Amino acid sequence: MSIVGHFINGKVTDTHSRLQDVYNPATGKTIRQVAIAPKAVAEEAVAAAQAAFPEWRDTPPIKRARIMFRYKQLLEEHTDEICRLIGQEHGKIVHDAAGELQRGIENVEYACGAPEILKGEFSKNIGPGINAWSDFQPLGVVAGITPFNFPAMVPLWMYPLALVCGNTFVLKPSERDPSATLYIGQLLKKAGLPDGVFNIVNGDKEVVDTLLTDKRVKAVSFVGSTPVAQYVYTTATASGKRCQALGGAKNHAIVMPDADMENVVTSLLGAAFGSSGERCMALSVAVAIGDEIADQLVTKLQERMKSLTIGVHSDENNDFGPVITREHQQRICSYITSAEQQGAKILVDGRNMTVPGYENGFFVGATLIDNVTTTMDSYKAEIFGPVLQVVRVKTMQEGMEIIDEHEYGNGTCIYTRDGEAANYFADRIQVGMVGINIPLPVPVSYHSFGGWKNSLFGDLHAYGPDGVRFYTRRKTITQRWPSANLRESAEFSMPTMK
Ligand code: NAD
Repeated sequence: MSIVGHFINGKVTDTHSRLQDVYNPATGKTIRQVAIAPKAVAEEAVAAAQAAFPEWRDTPPIKRARIMFRYKQLLEEHTDEICRLIGQEHGKIVHDAAGELQRGIENVEYACGAPEILKGEFSKNIGPGINAWSDFQPLGVVAGITPFNFPAMVPLWMYPLALVCGNTFVLKPSERDPSATLYIGQLLKKAGLPDGVFNIVNGDKEVVDTLLTDKRVKAVSFVGSTPVAQYVYTTATASGKRCQALGGAKNHAIVMPDADMENVVTSLLGAAFGSSGERCMALSVAVAIGDEIADQLVTKLQERMKSLTIGVHSDENNDFGPVITREHQQRICSYITSAEQQGAKILVDGRNMTVPGYENGFFVGATLIDNVTTTMDSYKAEIFGPVLQVVRVKTMQEGMEIIDEHEYGNGTCIYTRDGEAANYFADRIQVGMVGINIPLPVPVSYHSFGGWKNSLFGDLHAYGPDGVRFYTRRKTITQRWPSANLRESAEFSMPTMK
């Protein structure tokens, strides 16, 4: 059985303290094993990144950007292989994997603008013969820790930008689907990145803890579940590091009585069930304003859900695939059961579904639950599966209140034809990313991505302009060259421009 290793100082190694099975979730079988690194291997990766930093820091931004131009081309040339690896280990259908990769590549495209995005700020003549400027300098070694659900896109949120900003990088991918991440990481070497500038260490908590506490690591970007995000943020900041830790989500869509119902149903199907609901921006709760619209919504959804196709990643015709592990499959089903026991109505039941030829796969069928209330466990938790819950309320205000009261604030959406209502919603709702008739308002690479409340710990969002600020620190230089006619006498009061 092949072993997925690490990529350190330009070489793949598989030193491990143990091996962990990597499954094909469609078959339920182990297809590879991943090397779980001991602490020493994580330290070796940090040392490689530290050694590569001085030369990389001094490499002009245009040269760093040229590597990213070549990298973008390589990612595009190897799309089929990358999508195959994502599909094999994550289970997402090839068209969905291609979408994930494309959104990742857009971050590489943004990073190609390094000379422009790293331009400093300059003020001439702030005093007699005095100029001042601010520089955005790299931090040093930075680390990224990423989740299973986007093995290509989420790492690409982080390292292209961190690298063009002049940092060196150590990435700890998800141990559940590590192959695509390792594959795209190695393409950086082909693109011309010097050895040691970018490193990958596969592992578990031991590797994460090493990265969080090693004094040579200056900043940590994390994406994953909220309890781990909170732990990572607390530990990294206690160790004096800059940290952005993006956590879980529960994304609500408000369906107003004047919404275009065909559009709502079509877009909810994709946003709730696409990628088996394993997206941090998945719409998992529809908040229907009034019983009339709720009845129409569930009737049409039930009808359209009959034609969803679920199966293996390689078949383009499938809408979505399995979930990541057997345990996760059981967890999702237990939330459906708890909703039923607590009084909700299961209108379409995805428990016990099987795909012919893939009877041992980790599949959960698309599930629709009506009459969900905010006290139910299935409402409070992030289920992270193909489960759409409908909450019925009487007014938009009531709908907004329940969204604001939820612990998560990643994404949300309003379906309406009323511009005034939409603007009011977008302006007031306590959520970081808002869609107006857009179900998955994932910001493009030249904006930044981040939720509010328990969906993000830290101040700066991921990628885009916030990413540049996160991966650099400001230095401000004030300069005067003395000349004969600008000599000043000793000044003992605070210098000002009088
Ligand atoms: P996870 O929290 O289990 O794992 C994320 C990373 O943390 C992995 O690399 C994992 O190895 C590591 N990890 C896990 N437990 C750890 C521990 N106790 N100590 C140290 N490190 C640990 O998340 P996941 O299941 O891989 O991903 C799904 C979660 O990620 C969902 O909650 C989803 O909402 C969230 N997510 C959020 C965003 C966002 O942008 N907000 C994006 C994608 C995924």
